[in-house]
Amino acid sequence: MSVHAAALRFSTSGDGDAIDLTDGIAGVVRDSGVANGVASVFVPGATAAVTAMELEPGGIHDLRQTLERLAPSAGDYEHNRLNHDSNSHAHIRAAIVGPSETVPIRDGRLVTGTWQQVVLLDFDDRPRERTVVVQILA
Ligand code: ZN
Repeated sequence: MSVHAAALRFSTSGDGDAIDLTDGIAGVVRDSGVANGVASVFVPGATAAVTAMELEPGGIHDLRQTLERLAPSAGDYEHNRLNHDSNSHAHIRAAIVGPSETVPIRDGRLVTGTWQQVVLLDFDDRPRERTVVVQILA
């Protein structure tokens, strides 16, 4: 098995900021020269997540609203009490969505749906610098 690794870096605004990773991942696939394999995409950090969705204004609005209902930003949280912190809702949202996606590569291209993007979500309650780790396995 071969592994080709790369990092994609972003400055986010936090609070549910959504960044399309698809073109960046496709660039790593191109650089790897891999025709058939998988792309593993992972964000280190306990308040960010990676998902696959249609990234359009209505969809991201609805996802943010749904996560606000599940883990309200103004909720009463033990994490915030114990750690004098303010971002427990961000930890919960990141845990629900998850930190990674694995995307098949066929004929040198990501096998994503027509309206499906791979998306970085930053739930922290402040701007952050994020590094997304992409590993191409073949
Ligand atoms: Zn925290």
